[in-house]
Amino acid sequence: MPSLVGPSHYVFFGAIVRRLQWLRRIAEVYQNSGDPELLVSLARTEKLFASTLDRAEKVSGLGIRKPYPLTELLDDTPVESFLARFYDELCAFEAHLFDLLHAHHQRVGETEAQIRIEECINICALWGREIAGEKLLIPNDERYDSYSVFEGLYQFLEGGDLQWKPLLPRRLTENEVHYELRFCPHARGHSVSSNAEAKTLACRFESVVFEHFAKFLAHNATFSRTRGLDHCTDRIFLNN
Ligand SMILES: [Zn+2]
Repeated sequence: MPSLVGPSHYVFFGAIVRRLQWLRRIAEVYQNSGDPELLVSLARTEKLFASTLDRAEKVSGLGIRKPYPLTELLDDTPVESFLARFYDELCAFEAHLFDLLHAHHQRVGETEAQIRIEECINICALWGREIAGEKLLIPNDERYDSYSVFEGLYQFLEGGDLQWKPLLPRRLTENEVHYELRFCPHARGHSVSSNAEAKTLACRFESVVFEHFAKFLAHNATFSRTRGLDHCTDRIFLNN
């Protein structure tokens, strides 16, 4: 019997697909790095995760106006199991990828590493704005206040409620959003990588996506991410 697919499954699936597309864009930056060791390991990693990446490829193009076609990809396992497996694969791919990028940065030295990092930061900023543009196409009569910025991050980037509170609010007022990230790159993929610097790089890139998503919706926003002992936290201020 086919499993029942509800709105929350689509939201979670959408966030996974967006994240995979983001990781692919970052990987593309390094395709012309001229570092044979990196190219070989990137190719090996893509091969290792081929079925995961193919799934995201099949539904490529942003989910504008209609949800990503989750039902086309479902296998005979319940939808929750399918999504949990897909999410785990995504986290593993992310951890592998950033381990490779970090090792590459160590090999090529600071100046060259910095050039790639800057390029990735630009791509992350664009990606955040692109996803925010996807949200803007969904009719919303209200202006984008701090609550809707938080809601947007929660749904579009973290996949809504299917995980247990991916963003845990600490303070949510008219002008300020402050929350803990329960599943930032420092927490994701811990079973694959123990390289703290690689995770910090991933978290930094992710924060750029969050920042530009927020700023696209609320032009007066300022954004900062802080590494805490247990969890990273984001603060967004909406200046009047
Ligand atoms: Zn983090």
